[in-house]
Amino acid sequence: MTGWKALLACLLLVAVMVYAWKHPSEVEYSSQQFLMDTFVTVKVYGSDRGHLQQSVNEAFGEMRRIAELADHFPQAGTAAYRASDVCAINEKAGIRPVRVHSDTITMLTLARQYAELSHGAFDPAIGAVTDLWNFSGDNPVIPVSESIRQRLKLSGFRYLTVNRDNSTVYVRKKGVKLDLGASAKGYATEKAYQILKRSGIDKALIDAGGNIRTIGTNREGKPWKIGIKDPRREGGLIGTVSVENGSAVTSGDYYRFFERDGSRYHHILDPRTGYPGNHTMSATVVTQDSALADILSTACFVLPPSEALALATGLKEVDLLLITSDKKIIHTPTLTGRIEINPNSGYRYDQGR
Ligand code: AMP
Ligand code: MG
Repeated sequence: MTGWKALLACLLLVAVMVYAWKHPSEVEYSSQQFLMDTFVTVKVYGSDRGHLQQSVNEAFGEMRRIAELADHFPQAGTAAYRASDVCAINEKAGIRPVRVHSDTITMLTLARQYAELSHGAFDPAIGAVTDLWNFSGDNPVIPVSESIRQRLKLSGFRYLTVNRDNSTVYVRKKGVKLDLGASAKGYATEKAYQILKRSGIDKALIDAGGNIRTIGTNREGKPWKIGIKDPRREGGLIGTVSVENGSAVTSGDYYRFFERDGSRYHHILDPRTGYPGNHTMSATVVTQDSALADILSTACFVLPPSEALALATGLKEVDLLLITSDKKIIHTPTLTGRIEINPNSGYRYDQGR
């Protein structure tokens, strides 16, 4: 009997060792950096902490590289200015095409394409107008309407020519400026995702302040649940959306804004008027590619809700959830079953629309 017990104990030990060898315990590695004007968090899961750490560092390096190429804020003469393709393009507007990095070509090709498709609701050549509002500065002011009118003449994606064959970009009118604030973060997030994926990571979440990109499932083997922020209650959520291997990107009027005489002025402008868009409080786009999701979230924020829904519905595997200015929650039908809305959120939920 003792012999049997010893044999059983041995077999059990071997089984446990084989299981442990096949399923090394999973650890989480998480890191945060300030990038592109926001805190970016990358969380990854796996068995080798050193490998996780190295992959996350590489992912951050990649995001920083893209952020530098797309930055339009640096002062002329600085190292950051010289590193930025967008600064070089803006400097040579109306003068000559500029040879740029292949990532800049990819970013601007996508931007140009969706500017066209959204009828200019998303416009990467809106820099002359966003500069005037200066939402990133300490003391934003409401510009006088005549200044806005003048700057609108120096705005418009149709001035932008991207030449893939010789890797050049030309902005054809002097004073027209690119501002990739609505799309570069998504592209950088997608590139970081690619780095993680290539290094074999199969469970991760990148959170770049409203831009979420996931790999695989969460620790429980379920889709990641992404919170949808309540636009008028800091820290509050109106609900969640489930995302597996994809992105959820939100454009909201609560990220950068100021109030004057009871009105809210925020950083997402309607390129037709030069003033902040006023149909929507937040637009969340759920799709695989983070770069596309970032562009579309801005476009859908600016468009009237019916046009935003039509744009999303017309695209393959693109979902949209809007919180409109009159406090209605509207989404593409394909999101049903993947969203949970808090019934006490205070917003009216137009189910299935
Ligand atoms: P997002 O939060 O992705 O919607 O991007 C907002 C940022 O994009 C702003 O801070 C501006 O830099 C820029 N922007 C504002 N309005 C537009 C627009 N209609 N199209 C493209 N970029 C815009
Ligand atoms: Mg955007």
